[in-house]
Amino acid sequence: MTTSVTADFRDEDVRGFGMCIGGTARVLRPTSAEQIADAFAKVRAAGGSIALRGTGNSYGDAATNVNGHVLDCSRMNRLLDFDPHTGVAVVEPGVTIRDLWRRAIGHGFWPRVVPGTMAVSMGGAAALNIHGKNNFALGTFGECIRSFELLTPRGELLQCSREQESDLFHAAIGGFGMLGCMTKLVLETKRVHSGRLRVWGIVARDLEHNLQILEDLRGTADYLVSWLDLHGKGVALGRGLMHRADQMKPGEDPGGLCHLDPLRQDVPAKLFGLVPKGWLWPGMWGAVHMGQVPLVNWLKFKAGFKEERQSPYLQSHGAFHFLLDYVPRWHWMTRPGGLIQFQPFVPQKEGARVLRTLIEKCHQVGFVPYLGVLKRHRPDPFLMTHAVDGYSLAMDFAVPSGKSGRDKLWRHCRDMAEVVLTAGGRFYYAKDAVLEASSFARVHGDTAVAKFRELKQRVDPDRLLQTDLARRLGV
Ligand SMILES: Cc1cc2nc3c(=O)[nH]c(=O)nc-3n(C[C@H](O)[C@H](O)[C@H](O)COP(=O)(O)OP(=O)(O)OC[C@H]3O[C@@H](n4cnc5c(N)ncnc54)[C@H](O)[C@@H]3O)c2cc1C
Repeated sequence: MTTSVTADFRDEDVRGFGMCIGGTARVLRPTSAEQIADAFAKVRAAGGSIALRGTGNSYGDAATNVNGHVLDCSRMNRLLDFDPHTGVAVVEPGVTIRDLWRRAIGHGFWPRVVPGTMAVSMGGAAALNIHGKNNFALGTFGECIRSFELLTPRGELLQCSREQESDLFHAAIGGFGMLGCMTKLVLETKRVHSGRLRVWGIVARDLEHNLQILEDLRGTADYLVSWLDLHGKGVALGRGLMHRADQMKPGEDPGGLCHLDPLRQDVPAKLFGLVPKGWLWPGMWGAVHMGQVPLVNWLKFKAGFKEERQSPYLQSHGAFHFLLDYVPRWHWMTRPGGLIQFQPFVPQKEGARVLRTLIEKCHQVGFVPYLGVLKRHRPDPFLMTHAVDGYSLAMDFAVPSGKSGRDKLWRHCRDMAEVVLTAGGRFYYAKDAVLEASSFARVHGDTAVAKFRELKQRVDPDRLLQTDLARRLGV
């Protein structure tokens, strides 16, 4: 354990969302940039390391620092300004996607990019350059950021934008908290003319059908995402249910105007008005631990035909994007081992072959993800980008609680990673737990890695900012 440098830090168990990675660290929750600068100076003087952390929603070790220090930015959560005419927001890094959309929607705006949970912070979203179900159309979170203030470990407060400190702007977005702490961000939201989206469920009979639908619709749809039943084999391999959602045009949904009230976005907290959704996870735990996932998936796939017949239907933005948030503690269903997510990004031309190979490997080894989510992506201009002109398939694995099972799962994921990297694919650190140092340059290319290390040397020569992820990748 690094020596305690200030009494304000407290020992805590700091883990990734998947619960299986992390451990004790000394945690401080600053409320101002001055407090962060002070913590940087003190920990640096003591020769320690600091990990920056938002709301801890990365699945793996992107925001953990076992035996080191952690600056949890979640209390720097003031939404400093929101322009009701332009939708431009000025936020502290701990403001969450939830805080932002609740402020924006009443004025007819919605965040341009949102992930599958609204608990994510602005700092975390920028540092990993998150994507949404509209990545193929509107790009990544970084593309809606106009500028930010970056407090470097040396204590400089730099203004970064596309015009000013452009290299740092493009490297700190997606730079997984290695170059400094973003203490204030200016970002754009987008206009919405209704509190609802028009949604279609589309049954996809196999993987190739899923990919074809993505190609056919990506020129016209606003959002596309497919749930995959990864237990499907043979002709059913990669089958699933695609969801397309489109925004309403002005005047198209007069009934949806009242849904611009944030309270009308929430999904009921009880199932059938009776069962609190917080009670659902034990049932889900049973499905995961008693081999019932194939049955549950089969039922969900069959239900997709009915949904397809009843499409299109109207759904609130909140329900479409954040359905999982309305099932509190759903990830506890993977206890005691926890979960990891493996999300390869594969170039379009290699998509069908590589994704098919990965799913087949899962069946051969006997580790079949309980959840698969397929999306379409496009490249972005950031130095450490994970994006490709192609597809990602997020695969959620329940982690066995014993060491040998866990080691076997890690070997399986590394074996799949080799297939992805050989095909020119990439990985996303919000969802990674398995890559080794030898993969870092293969993901980003030698030139990008050299430039990133040069910038790190410039702003953080003492290597104060570290995480377990950064050490694993030999950043
Ligand atoms: C249920 C669920 C669904 C998800 N769905 C998606 C999805 O659809 N798309 C997607 O892209 N991601 C998704 N994610 C992942 C999530 O969006 C990212 O992991 C995001 O970075 C988490 O933000 P956070 O605030 O929790 O950050 P943390 O996980 O706490 O930290 C993330 C990174 O940001 C750095 N960081 C934090 N604050 C700062 C700061 N102020 N300055 C500089 N660096 C900082 C940390 O060092 C770390 O590297 C999902 C996660 C969950 C749990």
